[in-house]
Amino acid sequence: MNAITIDKDALKAKYAQERGKRLRQDGSAQYVRLEGEFSDLATDPYTPQKDREPVTDHVTFAFIGGGFAGLVAGARLKEAGIDDVRIIEKGGDFGGTWYWNRYPGAQCDTASMIYMPLLEETGHMPSEKYAHAPEIRNHCSRIGKHFGLYENALFHTEVNDIEWDEEAKRWIIRTSRGDAFTAKYIGMGTGPLHVAKLPRLAGIEDFKGKSFHTSRWDYEYTGGNPEGASLDKLVDKRVAIIGTGATAVQCIPHLARAAKELLVFQRTPSSVDRRDNAPIDDDWFSDVAEAGWQKKWQENFAANLGIGFPEEDLVNDGWTDLAKRVRANMREIPPSEWTPEKILASFEDSDFQKMEEIRRRAAAIVDDPDTGENLKAWYRQLCKRPCFHDEYLQAFNEPSTRLIDTDGKGVERITENGIYANGKEYEVDCIVYASGFEVSVDYVSRSGFDVAGKGGRKLSEHWAEGMRTKHGLHIAGFPNAFMVQPAQAANFIANVPHNIVDHADTIAAIVAHAEVEGHDMVEVTPEAEQAWVDFLQTGLGANIGNTECTPGYYNNEGEGWSDQDRFMQGHPQGASAYFNYIDGWRKSGTFDGLKFA
Ligand code: NDP
Repeated sequence: MNAITIDKDALKAKYAQERGKRLRQDGSAQYVRLEGEFSDLATDPYTPQKDREPVTDHVTFAFIGGGFAGLVAGARLKEAGIDDVRIIEKGGDFGGTWYWNRYPGAQCDTASMIYMPLLEETGHMPSEKYAHAPEIRNHCSRIGKHFGLYENALFHTEVNDIEWDEEAKRWIIRTSRGDAFTAKYIGMGTGPLHVAKLPRLAGIEDFKGKSFHTSRWDYEYTGGNPEGASLDKLVDKRVAIIGTGATAVQCIPHLARAAKELLVFQRTPSSVDRRDNAPIDDDWFSDVAEAGWQKKWQENFAANLGIGFPEEDLVNDGWTDLAKRVRANMREIPPSEWTPEKILASFEDSDFQKMEEIRRRAAAIVDDPDTGENLKAWYRQLCKRPCFHDEYLQAFNEPSTRLIDTDGKGVERITENGIYANGKEYEVDCIVYASGFEVSVDYVSRSGFDVAGKGGRKLSEHWAEGMRTKHGLHIAGFPNAFMVQPAQAANFIANVPHNIVDHADTIAAIVAHAEVEGHDMVEVTPEAEQAWVDFLQTGLGANIGNTECTPGYYNNEGEGWSDQDRFMQGHPQGASAYFNYIDGWRKSGTFDGLKFA
C-alpha cells in the first residue's frame, strides 16, 4: 500500500485529546473481582465439582496451574524421567485460560503453528491458521493424556499456602480442598489473565435480568455452544455487551447474528485489522513438518518481531506486518546513523500509517457513517491489545446491532432493567460483561498465595521493591522453585507459549541434572540474581504501555507503571537474544549462577 500522508502533529493532538477523555481518578480500582456479592458469577459453569478426600502424600514435582505452563513443564519433566508430577488447577480440567474462555467465537490471535505448544510431540496438525478455542482446549487435554499428567492432577483445587520445610528440604503445599502434601520441587505458572473482573458499577446486583462474564458463558441461557452453533435462545432477547476489547470483538458477531437486539456499549474502540484465517492443508503441512519444525517457526516469528533483518517470514501475520514496516523504514536510514531516537521515530511512522489504514478499514466496512467513525481507534497500535477479525466490524451492519458509543465515559450504572449510559436507560434482558481480567495487581494478590521460602521469608517481602529473579525463573532464598512467566526473560508477549516452552526446557534440564547428581537442593545465589536484575536494567525497557497511551491494562489504566513494575522487563536485546543466550546456558551443563547441594 502507498504511504498515506499524515499530519503528525494533528494526529498526536487527537490521540492526546482522546486519551484525556478516558483518564480516571480511580485507575485500576474501577474494577471489582467476581467475589463477595458477585461470587455466584464466578461459579464454574462447565464442569461439576467432584467430591474427593484430601491428599497428604509426597510428589517429586508439584506445579501450580494447569494451563500451558503446567502442561508443558509437566510434559518436559516426564520426558526427563520424573514420573510423579502433580498439577494443581482451579478449573475442572486442563487448559487455564482456554478452560474458562468458552465464549462463542473464542479464537487464538497468534498463529496456531507457533502458539499451540508441543504439536510435534503430540502429532497434532492444527486445523486452521488461527485455531478456535475448542481445538486449543482439546489440545490441552491431548497433552495431558499423552504425557500421563491426568493421573496425579488435582482439579477444582486452589493453592492457599506454600512453605519451605528447611529440615526435610521440601515444600509443603496446602489447598482449598484440605490437601496438605509435600513436593521436592515446585513450579508456578498461574498466568496473567485468570482473575475475571467487572466494572465497579452501582446497581450490578439489582439487575433483574440475566448477566454473566464472558469467561463464564451461560449456554443454558443463550443456546448454542463453544463450537459455534447458533445462540438460538437469544432470538427474542435484547442483549447488551459491555466492553469492546479482544474478547468482545470475537463474540459480538455471534451475538449480532442471534439476538433480537444487540447493544454494544463502547468506551474505547479496539483497533481491528483483517484476520485472513484459513484452513491448514494436509499436504502443505506434511511438507513443512520435518523434525524440529515448530522450534524453527517459533524462532523465526521471534526474529521477525526483533531488531534484525530475517530473510523469511514464515508466519506472515498482523504482528510481523508492523515489524516489517518498521524495518522497511529503517532500511532508508544508513546503518551508521541508527540511533535509539531514529529507531523509535521509525516505529512511530510505521504505527501512524498502520493505524490510519485500520481506521479507514472501519469506515469502509461499516455502512452507517457515524458508527464507522465511532469505531475508529485513536491511539498507537500497541497501546491496547491489537485485534484481528473479519466479522466484527461487519456485525454493525446487522439490523439487530447498535453501537452505543459513550465517548470515553463508559457505562455509568446498572439499573433493575438494564444499563444507564449517555444520560439514559437502555432496557435489556441480558448483560454480557466483556470487561476483562486483572492484570495490574501484584503477583501474590493475583495468584492467591504468598510462598514462604527459607527462614519463612515471603515472596511478597523478597519482591517488595519489585520482581527479582534470574532468568525470570529462579528466586534467591526459594530453593527448588521455578516461576513460569515471560518477565525478566524473553518477555515475548506476541507469542506467550514460546516463553513457556523455553522455561519448561530449562526446568527439565536443571531437575534432571539435580536428580542424576543426587542433589537435594538447587538455588540461585543472591549475587547471580542481583547481576541478572542489573543486566536487565541496561535495556531501553518495554516499548508498550507508556503513559502517552490511552488507558488500559497495558499502562496500568493510564497511571503508568510504578518503580516496582518497571522490573517486569525482558532481555535488553530482545526476545531472540534471550532465547539464544539461554539455549547456550542450558547446554553448557554448568548452570552458571545456580548452586546445587
Ligand atoms: P479487556 O480488558 O481488553 O477489555 C475490557 C473492555 O471492557 C474494554 O473495552 C473496556 O473499555 C471495557 N469497559 C470496562 N469498563 C467499562 C465501562 N464502565 N463501560 C464500558 N466499557 C467498559 O478484556 P478482554 O477480555 O477483551 O481481553 C483481555 C485480554 O485477553 C486481551 O488483551 C488479550 O491479551 C487476551 N485475549 C486474547 C485473545 C486471543 O488471543 N485470541 C482473545 C481474547 C482475549 P476501555 O478499553 O475503555 O478500558
